[in-house]
Amino acid sequence: MGKVYDLAVIGGGIIGLAHAVTAARRGKRVVLIERERRANGASIRNFGFVTVTGQERGESWSLARRTRDVWADIVPQAGITVEHRGLYLSARSPEAIAVIEAFLETEMGEGCGLITADAYRAATGGLGGPDLLGALYSPHEIRVESRHAIPLLTRWASESLGIDFLTETVAFSSLPPMIETSRGVIEAGQVVVCPGDDFSTLWRERIAAYALRRCRLSMLRLADPGVRLPGALMSDLSLTRYAGYAALPEAAALKAKLLAEQPRHYDNGVHLIVAQGSDGTLIVGDSHHYDDLPGPFAPASAEDDILDEYARAIGRPAPAVLERWVGTYATADDRTYLVDTPADNVRMVIVTGGTGASTSFGIAEKVLNELMGEA
Ligand SMILES: Cc1cc2nc3c(=O)[nH]c(=O)nc-3n(C[C@H](O)[C@H](O)[C@H](O)COP(=O)(O)OP(=O)(O)OC[C@H]3O[C@@H](n4cnc5c(N)ncnc54)[C@H](O)[C@@H]3O)c2cc1C
Repeated sequence: MGKVYDLAVIGGGIIGLAHAVTAARRGKRVVLIERERRANGASIRNFGFVTVTGQERGESWSLARRTRDVWADIVPQAGITVEHRGLYLSARSPEAIAVIEAFLETEMGEGCGLITADAYRAATGGLGGPDLLGALYSPHEIRVESRHAIPLLTRWASESLGIDFLTETVAFSSLPPMIETSRGVIEAGQVVVCPGDDFSTLWRERIAAYALRRCRLSMLRLADPGVRLPGALMSDLSLTRYAGYAALPEAAALKAKLLAEQPRHYDNGVHLIVAQGSDGTLIVGDSHHYDDLPGPFAPASAEDDILDEYARAIGRPAPAVLERWVGTYATADDRTYLVDTPADNVRMVIVTGGTGASTSFGIAEKVLNELMGEA
C-alpha cells in the first residue's frame, strides 16, 4: 500500500508551493506533483518582486500584505536572501506627481511618502533623469531572486516540512481519492490544482468558461550599473499600469499625456521595473502581449522600449544586456485570480493578474481555510 496523503497539490510554481507549504505547516501530509524536473514557468521567470503598493485596491492589496508577511517569515528559514526592500517610483511630470498625491490620500498610502528629486538621487546613488520631479517611496515590498528562491523554497518544503515532491510527473486526473499520474496512482483526500497557464491537461472545459488568455512578457538582465539600489525602481508608466494607481481618477490625465508621448510603449505594454540582485546585476522589464497562444517570438521593439524607459527614468544609458527571456502567465479581463470548485474536495486556483509572487500565500490561506477549515 502506498502512502495516503491529506492533500495533493498539482503544479510546483509559487501558487502550488504556497498551498503545499501552508497545508504542511498546518500538519497535513502533502504531496506535490510537478510536470518538469523543477519549476520552470512564470514563477522562476519573474522579478521576485513581492509588491504591495500598487496592487488593486481592496482584496488584492490585502492579500499582498499578508503574502509579504508570510514571505518575510519563511525566507530566513528557507535560506532565501531578501535582495532588497521597498519601492521607489520616480515621477517626471506634474500629472504623475498628482497620481502619487492622490494615492497617498487613500488607505493604501499608509507608511508611504512623496520624496523630493534630491532625496531620490541621494537614495539611489545619483540616479534620475534631468526632468525628475520626485518619487513615491513605499517601505512595504520585499524582493527575492526567483530563480534561486523557488528552488530553495522547494528544498525547504521537502527537507523541513516533509512534503513529498513527485517531479517529472504529469497529473492526468485530480478527483480524490485516486489521482492518476504518469507515475501511477497517488492517494489523497483533497486536491488543489495550480496549473499556471496550462489550460488543457486538467478541467479544460471548466477553465474555458473563464475565457482566459495568456500574456507574454519580455525580460532582461543587465550588467551591474555600479550603484547599489536601495529598493526596486519603477517609473511614470507604472502609474497607469498597476491598478492601485491606475484606477484613481487622477491617472486619466497622466495616461493621456504618456499615450501621446510614448505610444509604442503602450502598444508593447511596456512599463519599468528595475530590481537588483546580490551580484549587482539588474533584472529589468517588462512588456505585455496578450493572445490565446502568444508564442515565443517577442518583438525587438519591446526590448527597445524597456531600455528607452530605463534611460528616461534612470538618467543614464542602460548597461549591457546579459540575458533575455520571455515568460507567460494566465490572464482574465474581470479578475486577478480564480478559485474554481470542480468537486467537493477539489479546488483549482489560477492567478490571472500577473501578481502570483505577491498574492500566493494570502490566496493559499484563504483557499485552505475554506477547503479544510480554519487553521
Ligand atoms: C516575466 C514575468 C514577471 C512577473 N513579475 C512578477 C512580479 O514581480 N511579482 C509578482 O507578484 N508576480 C509576477 N509575475 C506573475 C507571477 O510570476 C505568476 O502570477 C505566478 O508565477 C504564477 O504561478 P503559478 O504557480 O500559478 O504558475 P507557474 O509558475 O507557471 O507554475 C505552474 C506549474 O504547474 C505545472 N503543471 C501544470 N499542469 C500540470 C499537471 N497536470 N501535472 C503536473 N504539473 C502541472 C507546470 O509544469 C508549472 O510548473 C510575473 C510573471 C512573469 C511571466
